Amino acid sequence: MSSCKACRRPALLFGVNRDGMCPLCASLVRVETIARVRIAADAMHTARQTSNPKARLKRIDVAIRNLKALKVYADRGIPLVVPGVSDLLRQALELRRATATKAGRKHLRKTQEEPNHGRA
Ligand SMILES: [Zn+2]
Repeated sequence: MSSCKACRRPALLFGVNRDGMCPLCASLVRVETIARVRIAADAMHTARQTSNPKARLKRIDVAIRNLKALKVYADRGIPLVVPGVSDLLRQALELRRATATKAGRKHLRKTQEEPNHGRA
């Protein structure tokens, strides 16, 4: 017996569509994935636009959260509105690492240049 790829319930009453989802999940997952793709894309766009490392990290984290949620569906074999979610997630994680490292170095440099930092 087949079960829905999204909710994992046995498809007793309604069966599953060609994407392997019950009718309830098919519409919900579609709406959710479109929203998550849009949020992740906007967050990555804003992250690349801003020069403030803290703001950039916040936006990247929003993208990563949404891409991870999308990857759960992709890993279950559910087709998404955009392919290559794993690649997008890898790019976001790389950008996060680079930004965090840069921000860390800058912070370190700043505290080394100002030995009396916080003290007058
Ligand atoms: Zn379902």
